[in-house]
Amino acid sequence: MAYNDKMRALYQEQLEGLKAAGIFKQERYIHSPQAADIEVEFPEGSSLRKVINMCANNYLGLSSHPDVIKAAHEGLDRRGYGMSSVRFICGTQDIHHELEKKVTEFLGTEGTLLFPSCMDANAGVFEAVLTKDDVMISDRLVHASLIDGIRLCSAMHDTFKHSDMAHLESKLQLHSDKRLKMVITDGVFSMDGDTAKLDEMVALSNKYEAMLLVDDSHASGFIGKTGRGTHEKCGVMGKIDIITTTFGKALGGASGGCVSGRKELVEMCRQKARPYLFSNTIAPVVVAGVLKVLDILNASTEGRDKLERNAAYWRKGLTDAGFVLKEGDTPIVPVMLFNAKLSQDVSRALYDEGVYAVGFFFPVVPQGQARIRTQISAAHETRHLDKALDAFTKVGTKFNILGKTKQEIIEMYGN
Ligand SMILES: *Cc1c(COP(=O)(O)O)cnc(C)c1O
Repeated sequence: MAYNDKMRALYQEQLEGLKAAGIFKQERYIHSPQAADIEVEFPEGSSLRKVINMCANNYLGLSSHPDVIKAAHEGLDRRGYGMSSVRFICGTQDIHHELEKKVTEFLGTEGTLLFPSCMDANAGVFEAVLTKDDVMISDRLVHASLIDGIRLCSAMHDTFKHSDMAHLESKLQLHSDKRLKMVITDGVFSMDGDTAKLDEMVALSNKYEAMLLVDDSHASGFIGKTGRGTHEKCGVMGKIDIITTTFGKALGGASGGCVSGRKELVEMCRQKARPYLFSNTIAPVVVAGVLKVLDILNASTEGRDKLERNAAYWRKGLTDAGFVLKEGDTPIVPVMLFNAKLSQDVSRALYDEGVYAVGFFFPVVPQGQARIRTQISAAHETRHLDKALDAFTKVGTKFNILGKTKQEIIEMYGN
């Protein structure tokens, strides 16, 4: 047995250090399906509490939609539980192929390849299409999974300041000697809820002959008039070379992801992307669920329309109550608290008032920018939002932060 007391002490010390710094992550156990109302056990062993969920990625409320559950049941009956194989050996069913065609149509691309997750799509895509003669130029706030994918690729890496198009242009000029250039961004940024300037990025990519990759995980299904994503909102459908996205958020919320885009790039991923080649296929039950989700979205924009109304209502309610918010127009509405401990205390007080919203602090967000990130869903009814607004107002009053500016909050609590 190699694991000895010395090793144990080393890790115990590190874990204690996380606790002492107040950044030890603790799970809350949900005893119900994902929905607007959930039943939570927290802390462990305490009795269940019914709370309003304000921090799920269940944007369209499809995680527990009866039609999706029914379709998943049928998928389970018709195609079995597991495939016990990666895609390229014996892990591809007709429904995997059908889903790839349906996603392609939905996103308005040329082709699609499924991955076990979007994290895997991002881990595999760069190394499959780029070499050491190329350069990747990414926004400084892209998602952690893109950063990991970039690390796994032999191409050179550079960054541009968040959404700063002049800075991006200077980087495109700087790297003009490279064989290929790829510009990389999130569509909607998950922590701030702001939208990439995809129209300008397409124009710059054209001007400097660069490819453009967009991770649209926080947009697919609900951003844009018919919910196709950030490229629809920005008027550049068909002009994004690679879109990566997840089925683990708005699109049913189970799991799975994809690379969708130019057909040669997708085919390169099918031949070379390692998570596609070496990790198990998406379970048939999930594929059947996502197929139904896309049918629902193709039939009507009701869900994303309601989500848009809910998000506007919520944003106005919090603004009127006197909170400091991050500007934006997506269902991601960050309530700024600046101080890490304050974000944890407010989250805890909200929980006691029946609202589940987690506080984020460094390193998940930049130092001094701690916040409660609220996320709105089409599953929320006005009564949920009103009750949550009451809870936020009560807690905001308790901590004396309503109507206060950023500077005043920092003076009271530090940052
Ligand atoms: C959630 C998220 C992912 C990861 O998606 P999974 O399918 O859960 O792996 C990737 N990129 C972004 C931008 C995300 O928000």
